[in-house]
Parts: sequence; C-alpha cells; structure tokens
Amino acid sequence: MRTFAAQTRTAGLADPTKRPPPVTIGALIRDGMKMEVHCRKCAKYALLDPADIGITISTPVPSLAGRFRCTRCGSKETEARPHY
Ligand SMILES: [Zn+2]
Repeated sequence: MRTFAAQTRTAGLADPTKRPPPVTIGALIRDGMKMEVHCRKCAKYALLDPADIGITISTPVPSLAGRFRCTRCGSKETEARPHY
C-alpha cells in the first residue's frame, strides 16, 4: 500500500533520463531569437530570422539539418541551431 502511494506521487514527474525537448522554431520566434545555419563543407555561417523562413513553428530546429542550401558552395550539408 505504501509503495503504491509512493509510485502514485512520483507519477507524472519529469523522467530524469529524458532529454529536454529540442528548441522549436516557435520558441525562437517567441523569444525573438535568430537561427544559425552552418555549412559543413565550407563553414559558411548565416543568421536567419525564424519568422521569415516559413517553417511550421512546431518544427525542432535541429531537424532542419539539410533543409538549407549553402549560398557559397551549394552544399546541402547544413546544420541549424538556435543563436544564443
Ligand atoms: Zn558551403
């Protein structure tokens, strides 16, 4: 009985083994932050305004890897991350 009560009390708390959810486009827009896009081929770096790129706000920023084409070398080996 006691064990059951203890389990019930901790249910619903954040699982410490879970990673925090990735930052989404919507979170960047809400916080007025820019997004960095890096080219892995030539190291070109660009700051984009997440409100201007027309991507669904629930999209996690890291999932945009490969969605952009480098304007210098044309590579699609790009990575996106929040610009802190
Ligand atoms: Zn490039």
